[in-house]
Amino acid sequence: MNILLFSTDRIALDATACRVIALNPRIVPTAIRGEKAGAGAYHSENIESFIDTNFIVNRTPVMSQTSSRFKTFLKNRITPKPAIDKDKCTLCGTCVNMCPVNPKAVDYWVKGNQSGPPEYGYNRCIRCFCCQETCPEEAISIDNLLLAKIASHI
Ligand code: SF4
Ligand code: SF4
Repeated sequence: MNILLFSTDRIALDATACRVIALNPRIVPTAIRGEKAGAGAYHSENIESFIDTNFIVNRTPVMSQTSSRFKTFLKNRITPKPAIDKDKCTLCGTCVNMCPVNPKAVDYWVKGNQSGPPEYGYNRCIRCFCCQETCPEEAISIDNLLLAKIASHI
């Protein structure tokens, strides 16, 4: 599209990227939940002249924005999630530092110190996969759950 986007606000950046392809950031779970988690704001200024309504993208909402225990339950069984390979993890803590939600969705829950790999709190995880992208050991993989695999074949 011949544009470059920069921002100090990662949620605003993602939301702006959505808007230029005529995708409402309100239907993008990471924008809504990222803002709720204090990682940034998805309300940005008018960029009408940059919007390309012909850009091909799925504009169907991924899920309703209203949260519920049932939806969280379903999300954790349907949505792919990051998982740490304990044998590859060097306990560097990069994934914990990079996780944008507050409190962290990946942290040293069990022992409270860095004597073991971080653990995930999937109910908090917004599936941004920053942890997976930044792990220097490539110790984090994307776990495609059984239901997601089945759904992808329907
Ligand atoms: S970034 Fe990778 S190597 Fe570092 S603690 Fe997290 S999983 Fe382990
Ligand atoms: S995908 Fe990783 S970085 Fe993103 S919210 Fe979940 S645990 Fe945090």
